Amino acid sequence: KSFEDLNLHPDLLKGVYKMGFQKPSKIQEKALPLLLQNPPRNMIGQSQSGTGKTAAFALTMLSRIDMDLKVPQAICIAPSRELAMQILSVVQKMGQYTPVECFFAGKDSWQRGMPKLTQQIVIGTPGTMIDMVTKGRVLDLKEVKVFVLDEADNMLETGSMADQSISLKNLITKMAKNPQIVLFSATFADIVRTFAERFAPGANEIRL
Ligand code: AMP
Repeated sequence: KSFEDLNLHPDLLKGVYKMGFQKPSKIQEKALPLLLQNPPRNMIGQSQSGTGKTAAFALTMLSRIDMDLKVPQAICIAPSRELAMQILSVVQKMGQYTPVECFFAGKDSWQRGMPKLTQQIVIGTPGTMIDMVTKGRVLDLKEVKVFVLDEADNMLETGSMADQSISLKNLITKMAKNPQIVLFSATFADIVRTFAERFAPGANEIRL
């Protein structure tokens, strides 16, 4: 299996090779054909860091952006600012030949009253993302068609998301119809499974 088999846009393929990747990692080989499928499918993937999961969902987000549309179309949340910044850097590197813009949604990266985001991909921590939608009204979700939750077990177990599960449900209802929900987690603990059943109906399960 090679990256050429995945029907990626040539500019994205160029980005992949520029990163030095020669062939898909195991998780990429399993997840990418599914993630890039049309109509889009929800997916929950069991994967630790170090497996190449970030590139898998970065390519998914980048592949689904309409570059002519200057509004958020893919969002990704992660449990910590550090992880969110790493994801941002992967998306930017992979998208370096693609006219895509990203916004980082961490604490202090937005202010009430700032204009609505025009970046197509928004990456950040859950609390800030929710504030930007509900308090700031600077993040408009109505064209969002991909929603990625990275290290979902971490977010659920630390409670950073458990407290906000109502708000998260709210986020999904504000997105485009049937957004693609992509959830990665190191374990499929009960808490993750319950969450996935609620938020990612009919998700395909990918295990390493
Ligand atoms: P991650 O699991 O997303 O944290 O990625 C772990 C590391 O693997 C990162 O340093 C990536 O740059 C690298 N990586 C991801 N996909 C590939 C690939 N297909 N070939 C070689 N390295 C990769």
